[in-house]
Amino acid sequence: MGESYNVAVIGAGTSGLLTARELQREGHRVTVFEKAHKVGGTWLYNSRVESDLLGVDPNREIVHSSLYRSLRTNLPRQAMSFLDYPFLKKQGGDDRRTFPGHEEVLRFLQDFARDFGLMELIRFRHEVVRVELVDELTHEWVVESRTGENESRWESKEEVFEAVVICNGNNTEPKVAEFPGRETWPGLQMHSHSYRIPELFENKIVVLIGSGPSAFDIVREISPLAKQVHQAIRSPGFLLNNLQNCDNLCQHSMIKCAHKDGKVEFQDGSVVDADAIIHCTGYKYHYPFLKSNGVVTVDGDHVGPLYKHVFPPSLAPWLSFVGLNCRAVLFRVMELQAKWVAKVLSGKAELPSQEAMACSVEKLYSELEKTGRSKQYTHRLQNGEVEYVSWLAAQSDTRLPRRWEEISYNTLAKRVLYYGENYRDTWDVEKWIQEIDSSD
Ligand code: FAD
Repeated sequence: MGESYNVAVIGAGTSGLLTARELQREGHRVTVFEKAHKVGGTWLYNSRVESDLLGVDPNREIVHSSLYRSLRTNLPRQAMSFLDYPFLKKQGGDDRRTFPGHEEVLRFLQDFARDFGLMELIRFRHEVVRVELVDELTHEWVVESRTGENESRWESKEEVFEAVVICNGNNTEPKVAEFPGRETWPGLQMHSHSYRIPELFENKIVVLIGSGPSAFDIVREISPLAKQVHQAIRSPGFLLNNLQNCDNLCQHSMIKCAHKDGKVEFQDGSVVDADAIIHCTGYKYHYPFLKSNGVVTVDGDHVGPLYKHVFPPSLAPWLSFVGLNCRAVLFRVMELQAKWVAKVLSGKAELPSQEAMACSVEKLYSELEKTGRSKQYTHRLQNGEVEYVSWLAAQSDTRLPRRWEEISYNTLAKRVLYYGENYRDTWDVEKWIQEIDSSD
């Protein structure tokens, strides 16, 4: 056993559960703070929506999950398995599909938490409201949490930990599209975070902004009910170019402006008299509880400086983030980040010097700048996924399955494009994996 610390984990979604398991395996004392009443994070579907459907009012009551009722995974279950805990089709289970519905992912995460004895580590209905370094020498962090049924009955508590791992998710704080007239446009505006069911758009003329996986699902779901759907896209995205059975769907360039009489004008010159605008425009990083004295900057599109997306160099290893990346096989990345954090804390994995870590972050920033990519790309792995995953596995001395690199964001995306809009039901993933396994 290496060194053992008293560690706080914020959040009991996928990344928090994986982190708790790895910390426990390394002999650390773990407390997980979870504001919900159950594990699962994003995968805990909530039919309730926020009072402000666009999610811009800072005083709105927050609903954590962004799932819609019909959501099925956009990765096959094999790509959402953990290294030693596969996401299997359960014998006699209700949903044995390769791309299951969200309930099945929740069941998997609940089983995982139970099978690794994580439930006892979690304090449910405990929302963290402050994380602050109080003593740099002894790396003492105060974690302030509140619990209770409602605001008037909240009980607050401050506790001291030697290390904190932030796993609060990054699909809750909506990023909305900005265009002239947005604030005074009279129709219904909603972010996909608050989209649950299509009925609200029956017989409506809808403008939908975005072309990612949520945009794809929502367009497909509302088109059969809506009068017309006008999609505003910057660049052709996730399969949306050749949707069938969507005769009332029309694609445009981005919105130029929205008028007080309800008209929406696109940059391509076309104008529609719309009833609703749905922003499928992604999310911002958001850590309202983190008081880092300016050491960690959060600007919505990126968090930094973070060595390899995990450790702020000057606070490492006592503060870390797990699960910040996108465009990757996320569960695998989170699992390896969690292993790395746990092993660094126990002294079994070594970090470079603070200066070397800061240099590595600077190198990433200058590469982004040189290639003209905005900060939005900081934590986007995609082409760098295989290299990053190999690197993470080496840090934690983890053996990856044979030919794992054949199942990456890019290879999966290619397959999805090949199989088209019904990829979830037409792609025989098991056969594809057998072919990968048997090829040499
Ligand atoms: P979350 O799941 O968001 O968990 C964070 C947890 O932290 C929550 O339980 C929350 O209650 C808690 N928390 C937050 N703040 C506090 C606080 N202050 N105090 C205490 N607790 C707090 N990924 C895939 O691999 N496959 C998919 O098919 C897929 N589909 C997706 C579809 C949608 C619509 C969305 C939004 C995301 C999808 N993802 C998918 C990505 C998904 O976000 C990740 O799979 C994963 O769930 C993220 O896990 P997480 O633990 O980092 O965050």
